[in-house]
Amino acid sequence: AKAGGRGNYCFYTPDMHVFATRRRELEIELRRALKSEEFEVHYQPQVAIGTHAVVGFEALARWYHPERGIIPPNEFISVCEEIGLIGAVGEFVLTRACRDAACWPDSVKIAVNLSALQFKSGTLPAVVAHALRVSGLDPRRLELEITESAMLDDTASVLKQLRDIKQLGVLISLDDFGTGYSSLSHIRNFPFDRVKIDQSFVRDLGTNSDSLAIVRAVTGLCGSLGILSTAEGVETLDQLNILVAEKCDSAQGYYFSRPVPFVETLPFVSRMHAL
Ligand code: C2E
Ligand code: CA
Ligand code: CA
Ligand code: CA
Repeated sequence: AKAGGRGNYCFYTPDMHVFATRRRELEIELRRALKSEEFEVHYQPQVAIGTHAVVGFEALARWYHPERGIIPPNEFISVCEEIGLIGAVGEFVLTRACRDAACWPDSVKIAVNLSALQFKSGTLPAVVAHALRVSGLDPRRLELEITESAMLDDTASVLKQLRDIKQLGVLISLDDFGTGYSSLSHIRNFPFDRVKIDQSFVRDLGTNSDSLAIVRAVTGLCGSLGILSTAEGVETLDQLNILVAEKCDSAQGYYFSRPVPFVETLPFVSRMHAL
């Protein structure tokens, strides 16, 4: 192996070997995890901004690893995407989330994250329809969250699938708005019902006037276009008060609750108490 050195291309280092080996182990483990049903779904409440009533939950994938405990999605979703496992994992999360949501009162929605890669095969509308059928969930209670990365290539196919999914009665949210490849043309050209304001803007709402200006612009834009707005990553009362003033529709974040296992959602919905 040649490491560093002027004019030398570095193809291989011992670190890369360790990385590649761990990576291969992770792939094998992920395939096993899917078969032995080690994936779980946690739920984070979303509340109406004025009343704090719970209006829905976001489904967030978790890996219950037999030795390493609960592993967060940032450590395995992208690997699942790279090894062709995201379709199966995504369908598992969707189906589980719809089944669980069917146990909540009718006024409570469920939001499920989609990977851009789940649009590749063209079968997503059928997958969504199937999840609705087996769970018996009213389609109007399901929201699918996509990021702008889903709109980057094969736009026509993605748009067609989104329209087919909306035909079912399902709502579509634009996730992590303001990060990555943000473009206002996405909001114009795609049929979004909701925009989720990324937590990076919410985090320093009280201290950074630029973040406040951006949140104000986004809620204003959503208001004019008839699109709902949800702020994510709300951790303090100060942030919440600003979002109320800016007429955001709903909020989610540690201020209300961390994502919790299904059984722990029941106290939120059984009394339907305001948080
Ligand atoms: P996301 O969709 O933006 O989800 C919000 C993330 O912010 C979640 O992290 C949530 O636990 C965290 N969060 C919520 N409230 C707060 C807060 O007040 N403060 C802070 N600092 N963080 C907060 P999580 O569960 O680790 O998920 C990370 C990302 O993994 C998600 O970001 C989403 O992009 C992806 N993901 C999760 N589940 C799935 C899935 O089923 N399918 C796909 N494709 N992606 C998923
Ligand atoms: Ca999300
Ligand atoms: Ca998000
Ligand atoms: Ca995010």
